[in-house]
Amino acid sequence: MDTIDVSNLNRQFLFRMKDVGQPKATVAAERINARVPGVKVTPHFGRIEDQPADWYRSFSLIVLGLDSLEARRYMNSVVCGFLEYDDEGQPDLGSVKPMVDGGTEGFKGHARVILPGHTPCFECTLWLFPPQTKFPLCTLAETPRSPAHCIEYAHLILWGQVRPGEEFDTDNEEHMKWVYDKAAERAKQYGIPGVTFQLTQGVVKNIIPAIASTNAIISAQCVLEALKTLTCFSTGLDNYMMYVGSTGLYTHTAKYEKDPACPVCSAGVPLEVDPDATLQQFIDQLLADPALGKLLAAPSVSYGSTNLYGRGVFEAETRPNLARRLTELLGGGAAAEGAVLTVNDKKLRGPLRVRLRLGSGMSG
Ligand SMILES: [Zn+2]
Repeated sequence: MDTIDVSNLNRQFLFRMKDVGQPKATVAAERINARVPGVKVTPHFGRIEDQPADWYRSFSLIVLGLDSLEARRYMNSVVCGFLEYDDEGQPDLGSVKPMVDGGTEGFKGHARVILPGHTPCFECTLWLFPPQTKFPLCTLAETPRSPAHCIEYAHLILWGQVRPGEEFDTDNEEHMKWVYDKAAERAKQYGIPGVTFQLTQGVVKNIIPAIASTNAIISAQCVLEALKTLTCFSTGLDNYMMYVGSTGLYTHTAKYEKDPACPVCSAGVPLEVDPDATLQQFIDQLLADPALGKLLAAPSVSYGSTNLYGRGVFEAETRPNLARRLTELLGGGAAAEGAVLTVNDKKLRGPLRVRLRLGSGMSG
């Protein structure tokens, strides 16, 4: 959905001054088509959520050049929604849609290859995306060590003390200048060099500069991984590469592992159930589950090709099952132990697979 801004021109080499204001996708496609013989790029100017799942299914491979975790999680749920497992819990190769992701933040970057069902997906490794670092207030107040500490002191502490009741506006030049002046004073007091007006804006607005060389390295890695995945001319990245260019040059490749309880890509999220529970009680347990409940609104449950409880047109037909014991519906305790139930819900973009473990029963 982005349009070209004049500040993009220092690093987004496909764009020229006359393109400012135009959609990035359209201009980029035009330039590549004109420049690279034999290549046909089709631009789409719109939100990624606006395309139906079948549109994404029509591609052999998807390369993500996204700037937010939420957009990545969305695309991850789309490709993992295509995934099908066979009876042994092995992913059906035809349903695996490879995805390559790259991202940069200043002088740091990453590239990763996601083969749903084989490698961890985004949801398996959410811990890789820690919340934005904020400085502890005591550091700002007592032991500032960097220009950013001085700026945040002026912004987060001094502003409220000196100008109480006045809301700080990042687009107000006088406000920004005030924070800069106070930060510069404090930096001088502690002998910390480097507080500038530009840095003040960067820290206060949380702007991380995009660096052309980092973007080039990461996009090159993404293209290479895409080629390797499509042509098999070489073994692909297994499965996560970090690039650090801020303190020398450093890359590190790590093989992260799938989370067996990942609700998006698991062959079966383990769930302990009471052997005496009815289907209704099982559904209630799903909705009350701390991890799974928030993903669901009105689940339907099936086992293989058998619809245990469906919504809409299947509701009347399957409603009597709600009062029956789940183990009985699955053909007895031995069959129910380890059975994988498929849960569908309008809040989910793909099926949630739940692997039953029968508990000792008599739970409250
Ligand atoms: Zn996963």
